This record gives sequence, C-alpha cells and structure tokens, in this order.
Amino acid sequence: MIKMNIYNLTLEELEDYFLSINSKKFHALQLFSFLYEKRITNINQVTTIKKEILEKINNDFSFEKIRIVEKEEEKDVSKYLFELKDKEHVEAVLMYHDYGTSICVSSQVGCNMGCRFCQSGRRKKVRNLEVYEMVEQILLIEEDIKQRISHVVVMGIGEPFDNYDNLIKFIKIINNPKGLSIGARHITVSTCGIVPKIYDFANLPLQVNLAISLHAPNDTIREELMPISKVYKLDELFKAIKYYIEKTNRRITFEYILLKDINDKEENALELANLVKGMNAYINLIPYNETNNLKFSRSNTIQIMHFYDILKKKNINVTIRKEFGSKISAACGQLRSKKEEL
Ligand code: SAH
Repeated sequence: MIKMNIYNLTLEELEDYFLSINSKKFHALQLFSFLYEKRITNINQVTTIKKEILEKINNDFSFEKIRIVEKEEEKDVSKYLFELKDKEHVEAVLMYHDYGTSICVSSQVGCNMGCRFCQSGRRKKVRNLEVYEMVEQILLIEEDIKQRISHVVVMGIGEPFDNYDNLIKFIKIINNPKGLSIGARHITVSTCGIVPKIYDFANLPLQVNLAISLHAPNDTIREELMPISKVYKLDELFKAIKYYIEKTNRRITFEYILLKDINDKEENALELANLVKGMNAYINLIPYNETNNLKFSRSNTIQIMHFYDILKKKNINVTIRKEFGSKISAACGQLRSKKEEL
C-alpha cells in the first residue's frame, strides 16, 4: 500500500487521524508544531507523544521530501528546480523584496490552460501536485536560505484552480500559526479565470488575495490568447469577480501582459479602464517576457508608459510589475521543466 505523505495533511485531518486511532486530538497540534516549527527530520524527535503512537504514525505515513536538484541565482532572485518522487520536475522562484521574501510556487506538472504566450504551459498537464509537493517547495527553500519566507504567490507552473482541493489544503497548512504561519494577506493565488472556482474561493473563510490573469479588454482579443475564455466569457468572469469582491470585501488584482500590437493600443487601455471602472481592483501591467515563441513581442517602454498613463487618467489603480529573473528564465511565463527542453 502506498503511504500518504504526512505533509499532505491539514491540522483538521491530523486531528481526525488521531481520533481514528483512539488517541488524543490535541496531539495533532503538537505534531504540527514538530513538523513545521521545529522541522524534525525523524518522527522519534517528537517528545510529547508516546512511543507506540509514534510507531503507528511512522507505519501509516511517509515523511518523504521532494529534492532540490538545481538552483540558479541572479540578483534578488533564485530559481529552484525540484525533482518529485516520479522523477517529474517543477520549479519555484524565490524573490527578495524590500518588504520581505516571496516564493512563487508551482501547482501542477505541466498545465492544460494553453495560454498562447506562456512558456510554462507549453507542456500539457501531466498531473496535479500533491499538497506536500507544494508545501515542501517552501520548506526546502526556507531550509536552504535559513530564513523564513514572508509571502507566497501561487503563480508558478500550473493552474491552481485546476488543482483546487489540494490548493486549499496547501493554503490552510502554510497559513496555520503552528504550520508555516504565513499570513493570509501575504498569500496570493492567480487564476486564468475558472469561474466556478472563483465562487468557491469567495465562499471560503480565508483572507487570501486573488489575482486574475486578464490580459485582454474584450472577448475577441482574449479568445486569441487564452483558450479558457471560450469556456467563460468576460461577462461571466466579471460576474464572479464582482461576487468575490462583494463577499470578501477584498481588492482584486488583474494581471495584464502588454503584447506589442495585440493588446497594447490606446483603445485597448480605454476599453480596459471601462471594464474595471468602479471596482475595488487594481491592474498590474506586466511587460511581456520574451520566450522562443516568435508570435509575441514586448511592447516598447514608451507604449507601456502611455498605456499606464491612460489608465491613471481614468483613475484606475495601476502598477507596472517589477521584473525579476529574466536572465535565469525565472520570470513570469518562463518556467518550464528541464525535461521539456531536452
Ligand atoms: N495559471 C495561473 C497561474 C500562473 S501565474 C494564471 O494563469 O494566473 C503566471 C502569470 O504570468 C500569469 O498571469 C501569466 O499569464 C503570466 N505570463 C505568462 N507568460 C508570460 C510571459 N511570457 N511574460 C509575462 N507574463 C507571463
């Protein structure tokens, strides 16, 4: 029988486990603290639980970790390549900001969303990441740099809302004060817009940030760029987003990559301003990181500034994303597994 990995379990699930073996529920919190605060490497390092129970835990669960197989560094950013149990690979990116450190976590091996401009999604989805494979991206990077991480963004390889249940468990574990204790407001999930999951996410009692990869001001352009928009049109997407804002009282982020001559014209900026007008939202303009896909190129800096100014004049909250890691292909949309490149 394949054992469940211990780092897959939320605190509630661990509590259920202890009850199921006729032990005490409070052991769950103790074990959690040994796993995530004290970072034990061996179950016998747990001092507050009886030996027989520890043996049972050891028999029931695996403590296996994923492995860092490569690390590339440039100023303020490091890219990590992880090898998983089945020899698949995913990447995560560590960034040093003036406000702290953040990790961009992957949620799937490959991705099925097929966004035309994205290198990270060129390989079809092979499988969802298990919870522990997401949690351990953070654990291993923290151990590597001997420092706690303050922010997490789920913006690496994969579509997090296509791995929804594992994503939520991952968030619960990293957010738990006895887990990795990363504040909900310091966690951001980005989706290309899987509408039913936006409603589910809105209904959760979690204060996690949501970002939407919008990239176009209308359905015509969006359909050329993102196959998902053939399934969910912008008006459906915006209904869900408005529900999210109303329900959570939280501000939403729109990501908008500027692609030369595709979505970076003045009329596009005006249409975009109209689309988000009056919403509790801000737009994050992303200069396109060029990949080996020659169909797309980066808007020039003047065009980017012009686009920005139009939105500003329309009183839209807008920022231009600080760029990280393009030299080591660690920037948005540039992550991919090594295997693919062979
Ligand atoms: N699948 C999720 C999570 C990935 S987030 C989502 O789509 O939101 C990665 C972000 O980088 C997305 O907004 C994506 O559209 C953007 N991106 C993809 N390729 C890029 C590129 N070449 N340059 C800049 N941003 C890119």
